[in-house]
Amino acid sequence: MFLSDAEKKNWAEALGQLERELTAVSFDLWVKSLTPLEKNGQLLYLVSPSDMAITQIASNHSAAINGAINQYLGCTSFKLLNEAQKDEYLKARKKAGEPASAIAKDNVLYSYEFNPKFTFENFVVGKSNQVVYAAAYSVANDLAKKFNPLFIYGGAGLGKTHILHAIGNYLREKNSQLKITYVTCERFTNDYIDAMRFGKDVTAFRDKYRNSDVLMVDDIQFISNKTGTQEEFFHTFNELHQAGRQIIITSDRPPKEIATLEERLRSRFASGLLQDIGSPDFETRVAILQKKALVEGWNADDAVYYFIAEKIESNIREMEGVLSKVCFYAGLSGKNKAGIEHAHEALKYEISNAKENITADKIIDVVCKYYNVNKSDLMGKKKNKEIVDPRMICMYLMTELLDIPLTSIGKIFARDHTTVIHARDKITDGIRKNNKLKTAINDIRNMLVSTPYS
Ligand code: ADP
Ligand code: MG
Repeated sequence: MFLSDAEKKNWAEALGQLERELTAVSFDLWVKSLTPLEKNGQLLYLVSPSDMAITQIASNHSAAINGAINQYLGCTSFKLLNEAQKDEYLKARKKAGEPASAIAKDNVLYSYEFNPKFTFENFVVGKSNQVVYAAAYSVANDLAKKFNPLFIYGGAGLGKTHILHAIGNYLREKNSQLKITYVTCERFTNDYIDAMRFGKDVTAFRDKYRNSDVLMVDDIQFISNKTGTQEEFFHTFNELHQAGRQIIITSDRPPKEIATLEERLRSRFASGLLQDIGSPDFETRVAILQKKALVEGWNADDAVYYFIAEKIESNIREMEGVLSKVCFYAGLSGKNKAGIEHAHEALKYEISNAKENITADKIIDVVCKYYNVNKSDLMGKKKNKEIVDPRMICMYLMTELLDIPLTSIGKIFARDHTTVIHARDKITDGIRKNNKLKTAINDIRNMLVSTPYS
């Protein structure tokens, strides 16, 4: 590998964090075996010994890995290579006498590899997502004529990224010349910061984005509080829009709930189609699991799909993670078809989603216990940090774990919903930046759901 000693050490630290963060099964099975090959700018090349691990990591653990490598190695994204791809990489590198990645650097945006499994065909359409699906499909067939921008919002793991990749895959197949730029909001931000930091003028950065035929920005909510990036994005948006290029944006919340989003951007976002993607109903969840099994080559009794679809309601990614675990357990016991007994076995250890037992009171109790503060202080008006932090954590957890509106959460604390939004954003941001907070939240979540599945 081509990492410096310091970088190797950083990687070991990143792995340490992942081990703490992921379940033992996920870590041991998929993540532990990764070896870093080379760091190029902010992109980290990782080699994996198994294609199964690549699939698993790509669909379930990329956020965790991005967080860890960002923190310890300053990388904003990673690319997984299997052994064959690694050999190719090494060959190209040798030939060029310099890192292969450096050669491809400026193409890296337009040649973004969409996940080949995230297609329109593999997307199960139900009541909760049919409008988004139809809008995405019609945009893909009629660029910049129908809805521009198309702004899709909805909770974690409901298929937003899948839809973007589906559009990308579809367009690539129709017209390989099209310049499709897919970025996460973080990537856009970091690119912009880099362009400025290295003292280059930002022309190269601008050209890269403003020459796109299609610009997709995933998870735009991270633009909140970043005034410089908002400004830059505003101009990128206008230029593309005026030139008749298609813009597609996703977010985990509607524009009006993105804190500190400039009014002019908010109104731009709302000028096309604003469409939410909801949680799928039971039948759709079962169909999604069956589709996933088909795509991944897994095999399970119908009872398993029903069982998982019943237990997990709101997050498809989580549902799929459980299904993969169940199939893995079946494999361990030498069966090629998973049965309900494997589901029970796998879910015995699955504690992250026993949501139905969680109430506002329980959250308050557990947080008070964890931070050793009085309930009356927590619910009261005190403004010292020792109380304010746990209070915000309560609000954050309520937005995450309870299906009740922000205003109701506000009422619990005799405050209005903007306080709740502020707390949620502050903690969300804190978790990304501060390891200790992240661990604390994980501990609290675990305390909240310590009743296992039955
Ligand atoms: P988001 O970006 O909204 O957090 P993703 O697009 O990453 O969610 O989706 C999470 C997982 O759920 C992916 O593996 C995706 O393929 C799957 N998924 C979500 N919605 C559907 C659907 N309607 N049909 C099939 N798979 C889906
Ligand atoms: Mg996503």
